[in-house]
Amino acid sequence: GIELTDIRKSYPGGPEVLHGVSLDMQAGEFVVIVGPSGCGKSTLLRLIAGLEKCDQGDIRIGGKRVNDVAPQDRDIAMIFQNYALYPHMNVRQNIAFGLELRGVAKSERNARAEEVARTLKLDPYLDRKPGALSGGQRQRVAMGRAMARNSSIFLMDEPLSNLDNALRVAMRSEIKELHRQLGATVVYVTHDQSEALSLADRIAVLKDGDLLQFDTPGTIYDRPANRFVAGFLGMLP
Ligand code: ATP
Ligand code: MG
Repeated sequence: GIELTDIRKSYPGGPEVLHGVSLDMQAGEFVVIVGPSGCGKSTLLRLIAGLEKCDQGDIRIGGKRVNDVAPQDRDIAMIFQNYALYPHMNVRQNIAFGLELRGVAKSERNARAEEVARTLKLDPYLDRKPGALSGGQRQRVAMGRAMARNSSIFLMDEPLSNLDNALRVAMRSEIKELHRQLGATVVYVTHDQSEALSLADRIAVLKDGDLLQFDTPGTIYDRPANRFVAGFLGMLP
């Protein structure tokens, strides 16, 4: 799992944006982080990924303190809101890209990319370039690239925010299915309350750099920590 203990973070010259956040996420758990714009959700993901350093606190992955471990050595795959695919590469090459950086041989890369593409139902499009794919298909290619690396942790920062509503809802069940298949720990940021409620094992509600509640959707529904939490998740009349 991922264990955050009393994490504080400020950006150079700016105010503190996380005020001592502690979160204990179980291995294999699907954790969704919600909260208003600017409350620190992306910062939290970037700290877990190692793209930012915290000012105080400990980050443990699988029991090991990783504060000083480089991003590439953390066994994490991150999917951003603006997933970048390489326009000149086809789907197979896009999915295999991270493996090439790791020095995996070409035949093995292609075999792995094709296996991942089958899981994501992208096998009909292996030879197409991103320009000839729908938004949802592109999203799956980005996810495939992360999957090809066999990471045990997936960080997703509003991965569906570019898609129309029908596609977002369709992708939800695909993400859920993917999580089941991979058995990976997922930390997922979204603005969409129904996405949060349908995907999460547990939901973390952040506000202004503080964690207000970290519980199952059912518990939050029955016993929201305060009116803000209830209101934010659409549970007030
Ligand atoms: P959103 O929902 O809009 O994506 P967020 O919850 O992801 O918001 P963060 O991106 O984590 O919010 O930002 C938290 C705070 O830190 C904000 O006040 C933001 O302006 C500030 N911040 C984020 N990145 C930087 C940076 N690189 N340098 C300085 N300040 C930053
Ligand atoms: Mg953000």
